[in-house]
Amino acid sequence: MSTSFLQSVHASFERAARLTDHEPSLLDHVKTCNALVRFGFPIRRDDGTLETIVAWRAQHSHHRLPTKGGIRFAPDVNEDEVVALASLMTFKCAVVDVPFGGAKGGVRIDPRKYSLGELERITRRYTFELVRKNFIGPGLDVPAPDYGTGSREMAWIADTYSQLRTGELDAMACVTAKPVEQGGIHGRTEATGRGLFFGVREICSDPTLMKEVGLDTGLGGKRVVVQGLGNVGYHAAKFLAEGGAVLVGLAEREGAIHDADGLDLEAVMAHRKATGSILDYPGAANLTTSQAALELACDILVPAALEQQITEDNASRIEAKIIAEGANGPTTPGADEILHVRGTLVIPDVYINAGGVTVSYFEWLKNLSHVRFGRMEKRFEEGAFNRIVAAIESSTGKAIPDQERRMLVAGAREEDLVNSGLEETMITAWQQIRETRERLPIAVDARTAAFVTSINKVAQAYGDLGIFP
Ligand code: NAD
Repeated sequence: MSTSFLQSVHASFERAARLTDHEPSLLDHVKTCNALVRFGFPIRRDDGTLETIVAWRAQHSHHRLPTKGGIRFAPDVNEDEVVALASLMTFKCAVVDVPFGGAKGGVRIDPRKYSLGELERITRRYTFELVRKNFIGPGLDVPAPDYGTGSREMAWIADTYSQLRTGELDAMACVTAKPVEQGGIHGRTEATGRGLFFGVREICSDPTLMKEVGLDTGLGGKRVVVQGLGNVGYHAAKFLAEGGAVLVGLAEREGAIHDADGLDLEAVMAHRKATGSILDYPGAANLTTSQAALELACDILVPAALEQQITEDNASRIEAKIIAEGANGPTTPGADEILHVRGTLVIPDVYINAGGVTVSYFEWLKNLSHVRFGRMEKRFEEGAFNRIVAAIESSTGKAIPDQERRMLVAGAREEDLVNSGLEETMITAWQQIRETRERLPIAVDARTAAFVTSINKVAQAYGDLGIFP
């Protein structure tokens, strides 16, 4: 019998919960999804017909508020999936110390089958329903993009919410990953992929871990395969390649391409734009299915498309030594066990794709403070750095070349601060997971260690809060 996505998340939870010393009833509360709404609403199609759209929003945990999580537009999204994703969000936020509970939304549509106008009507009506149900707001529940949605939909959500809540000062904090011009933050679009890069780079620099998986330290020269070239996959591939890794395989819905000498990501993207497919990219071999790419010879595999891609059926054929879960839930519990025995390091979704929610948190803070990060201090820093450089020049009697001087005196821009906060978050969170792993009495995989870390934080919060009324 196949395991559902929610059963997979629960299996990860149970495995970790057994290694904590919280009361079973408290653990049960931590595991349970607190609130779920399912609703249907009508939209008018461009041809004049009416269509009923089915949608959900789940708020898994209220130990911190607001709750936070993306909205997925997909033809097969269902309640089980939305609850599973909301649960993962709770543990993800706890892993990276982002003070939110977990949530997730789903709208059952294939966005490719709707016009721009229809998508806007669906998004706005979905937002309207959330407002009516008190399921959205800067202090209640703050959506973000997920599979099938992006900053365009987030702008529509922000606008709809603010229209309905005229005069609400913090209205723009009702949703994150908005376009920068609409209250968004620099660096959010790239954040999940960049965070994945920071995490993978940190792990690859650990000699003990690299010895365990049989690889040299450092990212340079590591062979990478990426499945899914959307927001997460494209940016993960881009930053890993910029960090010195070699992209040997890329997979999309139409199939995959392979070149052991390395693929040029931008050229592949341009080829896909021109031909509608990544297949037949000059010099690369075609693989007819996206799944086949998972089994390519490589060091690091980044599944960044959908859940349940690595299962008991294909886990034993995965050659990668490291799997970095860009997508949510790409590995089933059965596959996890096989990979653990084989010595593959699975860097779990709850950690490695948490860059998006981390920068969403920064955007939310920016919206609440109504001031861009760096606005107050950038010029002040530049003045101070200029004085230091002048003092060094006068005491050494040597002029610093112009280009170097410009680099030395530059004050931090918003994007610099966001990326610095993201890097710090990803490194600190991994250190916590590693410490938990070392402290546990039995050898566990990184997912179990990440869940233990986050269950402890959520259980502690519930314990401290008590029960009211
Ligand atoms: P997206 O819609 O931007 O991209 C998904 C990509 O996967 C698309 O290019 C699509 O064509 C491709 N795809 C679909 N089916 C495929 C298949 N069978 N094989 C290969 N490629 C396929 O979505 P996204 O935001 O990048 O999300 C991808 C995954 O990452 C999801 O699991 C999502 O929950 C997770 N995630 C997203 C974020 C975020 O900030 N966007 C954050 C954390 C986790």
